[in-house]
Amino acid sequence: MANQDTARLQQLDRDHYLHPFTDFKSLGEEGSRVVTRAEGVYIYDSEGNRILDGMAGLWCVNIGYGRKELVEAATSQLEQLPYYNSFFKTTHPPAVALAEKLCQLAPAHMNRVFFTGSGSEANDTVLRMVRRYWTIKGKPEKQWVIGRKNGYHGSTVAGMSLGGMAPMHEQGGPCVPGITHIRQPYWFGEGRDMSQDTFGRECAAALEERILELGEENVAAFIAEPVQGAGGAIMPPESYWPAVKEVLAKYDILLVVDEVICGFGRLGEWFGSQHYDLEPDLMPIAKGLSSGYLPIGGVLVGDRVADTLINEGGEFFHGFTYSGHPACAAVALRNLELLEAEGIVDRVRDDLGPYLAKRWASLADHPLVGEARSLGLMGALELVADQQTGERFDESLAAGNLCRDLCFDNGLVMRSVGDTMLISPALVITREEIDELIGLTRQALDETA
Ligand code: PLP
Repeated sequence: MANQDTARLQQLDRDHYLHPFTDFKSLGEEGSRVVTRAEGVYIYDSEGNRILDGMAGLWCVNIGYGRKELVEAATSQLEQLPYYNSFFKTTHPPAVALAEKLCQLAPAHMNRVFFTGSGSEANDTVLRMVRRYWTIKGKPEKQWVIGRKNGYHGSTVAGMSLGGMAPMHEQGGPCVPGITHIRQPYWFGEGRDMSQDTFGRECAAALEERILELGEENVAAFIAEPVQGAGGAIMPPESYWPAVKEVLAKYDILLVVDEVICGFGRLGEWFGSQHYDLEPDLMPIAKGLSSGYLPIGGVLVGDRVADTLINEGGEFFHGFTYSGHPACAAVALRNLELLEAEGIVDRVRDDLGPYLAKRWASLADHPLVGEARSLGLMGALELVADQQTGERFDESLAAGNLCRDLCFDNGLVMRSVGDTMLISPALVITREEIDELIGLTRQALDETA
């Protein structure tokens, strides 16, 4: 694209396009970067610059860019049947085939899926489903849902209410009633005065305390991401999930594991729940389901809830025009088939995850790095002003944003949450590309210092 075309596009962008999660004043004179094409793990901007996409879009392009098989799946389905719904006693082949495939890949007790258009809609569905479940079971007072501070479950009213992002709550008007949040298992940020093990148990104990405060007879479900993604790639201490499982079993409370980011290979298993040995009652999914090629999400439903809804519930007054959209379903199915046939998830577990872990950990010697952690192909760096004491930078310096912008200028997309730098590259990244990512990260750290 010629320079003046880029400038014109940026002007039109400023004039007409309200971007998600953007402070428009921060765009300044330069405007937005214009991304025009992508291949493998790289995106290209309108000036022809090649940029390593360390975030796989928004944690979603698991299979990498440019897969012709997915384009063919979309076009052939659009020709055959571009749209039909599955309301009112109809169905169609792509949604059925995708449902079957998902249930094969999911933990054994999950044999049903409800389709949505996004991860946020999946979590709206979760909220309605868990409350419906307990009402059918004759316990309509079991309505409270417990989430976590700094958890992210989407941007619709129910999604942001389930999530624990304070700035979203402040801007969004009243949240959905009957949702409360407990502390997050973020050891580097909140628990460094004790061992990881103790901290993990304390965070699980906070769940039990909240259940007792609310009254166990009033609590429907606990919702959490296996690893908090948008909150800062926060891997909980090993002691956390086993202790949480015990608490939930003790009080008969449903477990909702939000797999929107962790699902489809990110942590080296098909689902993050498998990595942490969890048996969720409900699993919201999206993103990597179609590798972001077309929008689709859903909720995998365990037998306990599904059997109740089906056998005792009558009609569930819930669904979306695009639930199980044929073209989106066809693309998602092809995506899962390719991830499976090419052994991509196993490669993350056995090769790329351990390789990234080693290379990523090597960044911990940089004076700006307080912690370098990773699991599978997700990683975080904690930026600190003083490596000895772990003291953080003054917020006004916005060190994370600076480092993120320097990365982009050097040819790497990283994301920053405060002073936590995040990566989540496509699962098809090679060892050489991981080396390139590490080199560019170190360069940006040097320039930030
Ligand atoms: N749940 C989690 C864990 C997410 O990370 C996200 C998005 O980042 C969502 C839900 C919302 O998904 P969507 O943006 O597709 O609505």
